[in-house]
Amino acid sequence: MNDLSEFVEVSSKLGSDLSLVQAGGGNTSQKINSQLMAVKSSGTFLRDISLQKGFCILNYEDVKNYHDTPVDTETKYSKEINKFVQSGNGRPSMESGFHAIIPRKFVLHSHPVYLNVLLCSQEGKSILKTLYPDSLFIGTIAPGMKLSMKIKSIVNKMNDDICILFLQNHGLITASDNLESCYEIHKNISANVKKELSLPKFILENNQDIDPILFEKSLFPDQIVFSDSGDRDSDGFKENFAAANYIFVQINSSGLTPLFLKSQLIDYIRSMDSEKYRLNLKQK
Ligand SMILES: [Zn+2]
Repeated sequence: MNDLSEFVEVSSKLGSDLSLVQAGGGNTSQKINSQLMAVKSSGTFLRDISLQKGFCILNYEDVKNYHDTPVDTETKYSKEINKFVQSGNGRPSMESGFHAIIPRKFVLHSHPVYLNVLLCSQEGKSILKTLYPDSLFIGTIAPGMKLSMKIKSIVNKMNDDICILFLQNHGLITASDNLESCYEIHKNISANVKKELSLPKFILENNQDIDPILFEKSLFPDQIVFSDSGDRDSDGFKENFAAANYIFVQINSSGLTPLFLKSQLIDYIRSMDSEKYRLNLKQK
């Protein structure tokens, strides 16, 4: 089996940067051989991952092939994905589908607040196309099954050594066979957007006075998940709402227009079994 120590080290570094990952958000994977993949467990914090805990080993060939047959419901989808687990802790990340589908050894996914100023604004798509012409852009979609099926439909467009995928109202995916480049480009995109928009540093304590509109409207999926939790002292609530507040304030001060999630999508995300599982873990 391939060594997972570098993967674990980079995953925890990525997860320890609050501007990239808030609470249990974000997920990473390494394909170990032609069949097995290590992927972060659902609901665990990326910053807490170690060689002993925080990830599952699953058969990614089976996960990938499962997406060839149309799946019907989210509940069935997440149950089926769980069946491909060989070992590890808890359920695999609800995003295991796209980790299996993307044909690169390493896949890193995070929710960078600086980048999300663009991804959660109406003008962001065209700005990012100019800054990163070789990237792929995925319009607003529910995480989990729908996002993975969408990524499957564009996988043949991933021709570069390093793949960059922007997810509207959500975050960033980078993928490469080289872990160091994958991590560097991930961090660089976030830093570059911060510089381009002259954004101030994201500081949790400076974003505790949440704009009331963010309790009515949502910019990204994790904001919905944690607004439903009722526990405002949890890291999940504090970190995700500080991120939402920062993103909202910076969208406005950059002269951009906020792009909120539509109510239909919000209802759909609320109904997802995988999101309820994630939330239940937080409340324990
Ligand atoms: Zn995500």
